[in-house]
Amino acid sequence: MINNSRINRSQGILQDEKLLRLLFDNTNEHAICIITNNGIIRTWNKSAEKLLGFSAENIIGKNYSILFSKEGIKKRLPKKLIAEASRKEISRSENVCVRKDNTFFWGSLCVTPIKNGSRPHNFVLIMQNISEKKEIERQKDEYIGIASHELKTPVAALSLYSELLADRLKTEHDKKTLQLFNDMKAQVSRMVNLIDDLLVVSEIERNKLSLNIKSFNINQLIRKVIHDFQTSTMTHNVIVDGKAKGNVSGDPNRITQVLVNLIANGIKYSPQANKILIKITNEKKKLIVSVQDFGQGITLREQRDIFRRYFRSYSLEKGNIPGLGLGLYISKKIIDNHGERIWVRSQRGRGSVFSFSLSYGAKR
Ligand code: ADP
Repeated sequence: MINNSRINRSQGILQDEKLLRLLFDNTNEHAICIITNNGIIRTWNKSAEKLLGFSAENIIGKNYSILFSKEGIKKRLPKKLIAEASRKEISRSENVCVRKDNTFFWGSLCVTPIKNGSRPHNFVLIMQNISEKKEIERQKDEYIGIASHELKTPVAALSLYSELLADRLKTEHDKKTLQLFNDMKAQVSRMVNLIDDLLVVSEIERNKLSLNIKSFNINQLIRKVIHDFQTSTMTHNVIVDGKAKGNVSGDPNRITQVLVNLIANGIKYSPQANKILIKITNEKKKLIVSVQDFGQGITLREQRDIFRRYFRSYSLEKGNIPGLGLGLYISKKIIDNHGERIWVRSQRGRGSVFSFSLSYGAKR
């Protein structure tokens, strides 16, 4: 009796193992392998064989750094991904990967730890070929770069003419037409901001984001940005709380762009609310600027991806709010390039606070 149940159980286990193996080998587009915390490959599925050209016998026992490009190895990516996965429970990245025949492809890599107690002893690596998606993105970026460059000159001229005409109307005391002109100016300035954003994206993609770092008065800059918003926004009051103690170091045009993006988002994603709060807090040699809205908020899951290019929330409440999913990506790149930090705190239904740091002091 006991023997029979043992046999049944072990047959069941065998059956389960077979099923798992079938699952493991039939993931089609997902190359899956298990690696040790030193990066040694322990298992290798059929999709990995198809994607990378190495058979299981060829590769088991070797270090997974063999799958990375020279650049990736120079940046110590194989070690960094494992370290990040240990720290954060997951590491996601997009990297250039190398096949057995030395050809390259863009891979999306996801590393997660397998734990026994608190310390991970092995890691699951899931890899997918995303070369096609990358090529589409490259074409999109190229197109964006060309289109925004071509749009910049006529829109700048339009902006200048509308300023001149508005000045004339002011002196002729034609209030109604002046209002129409102010509305037009606001639209033109939205267009200018959009084009600036698109140009930055193409600079980022070519690794050519330039910063003109100087020492500037952030209180004045914030006042100017708010003034421009208040002439075009009827729905929200933008309020400042706090003051900087002195000049900060950075590129004032780029910091304006970040602030404009954060305030515009705050307004856009809180249609039921009526205020945006800008808080300035001082922390030793740093200054923290926070933009708080009282809108729909962002789930924890979405907060992880929010600074990625083309990311837009999946939530239904977003409705028809238009956008490209570039503003936060650009803002992060600008702040990263300043050597500073940008982050978000938010709760669904309770609004969001986007903050970034700046350093006090003269030009670096
Ligand atoms: P866009 O607003 O053009 O879509 P962004 O990069 O500025 O692009 O924002 C990316 C996504 O993040 C938005 O689509 C939106 O889903 C979400 N998001 C950004 N800011 C907020 C905010 N203040 N409140 C709620 N969701 C936001």
